[in-house]
Amino acid sequence: MSIVYVNGSFVPREEAVVSVFDHGLLYGDGVFEGIRAYGGRVFRLEAHVRRLYDSAQAIMLDIPMTQEEMCEAILETLRRNNLRDAYIRPVVTRGVGDLGLDPRKCSKPTVIIIAISWDAMYGDLYEVGLNAITVTVRRNSPAALPPNIKSLNYLNNILAKIEANIKGGDEAIFLDAEGTISEGSGDNIFVVRDGKIYTPPTLNNLKGITREVVLELANRNGIPVHETRLGLFDLYTAEEVFVTGTAAEIAPVARIDGRVIGNGKPGPVTKLLMKLFRECTESEGTPIYKEEIAARK
Ligand code: PMP
Repeated sequence: MSIVYVNGSFVPREEAVVSVFDHGLLYGDGVFEGIRAYGGRVFRLEAHVRRLYDSAQAIMLDIPMTQEEMCEAILETLRRNNLRDAYIRPVVTRGVGDLGLDPRKCSKPTVIIIAISWDAMYGDLYEVGLNAITVTVRRNSPAALPPNIKSLNYLNNILAKIEANIKGGDEAIFLDAEGTISEGSGDNIFVVRDGKIYTPPTLNNLKGITREVVLELANRNGIPVHETRLGLFDLYTAEEVFVTGTAAEIAPVARIDGRVIGNGKPGPVTKLLMKLFRECTESEGTPIYKEEIAARK
């Protein structure tokens, strides 16, 4: 049976409930993270928890525990569920308030941590590549709701996903208001051309932690990387395109808006990065069961 952390208690999934007056539900007023554990270690735990607190800071939400306590609560949730490979979802909402939107009416944030088994989200598509669609709905403007904030307000992303679903795409690619490439509905995007990697700067998208790992891996392995604004033309004429995210990991893109990318199969740079990423997730991370990892050495 799955155990969920709710406001300091560990409760069975059926009892893990929040009030209908919670502003996370009523207004999407809150922040969250998506984290993975591989082989008994949590990948980039501190970076994810730091981003959670950065998102909270940006919306003036005081999480009622330290980052260290949050890390420990995440590890304990994994232990209570006896998980080694997992997807972890910490959520912090503004808490219970009245029906008005004023956050001052919410006295105490709600803190939830869910941990489940969940394989990389694109299943068989890692072999053949995704069919991606650029969508007409534009990514939230940083001047309205900065995509850097991983907030519970994901309706912009959901609208993109609905459009991709209708058009038969596996993933939606957002442009921003100016028409430059932003990101996928739940992942960052990369382009490969002439052996170099290009990805948009993080002004109009989420500062992805998998994105950061890919930049590190590319630097370490002598693959030149450029963080630069990209347009549709750059996508259509790329030799390879791939998307990155905690749920998606690294996923090759084979088609965009009906154009075949490269030879329509996962390319060599993408495949190399997928392999290096796998090695990374297998060899680093915060131990969940300290004794187990120590015994392996
Ligand atoms: N962009 C969006 C909109 C996302 O939801 C995600 C998933 N968190 C990402 C990018 C990728 O971020 P990360 O690699 O940190 O999971």
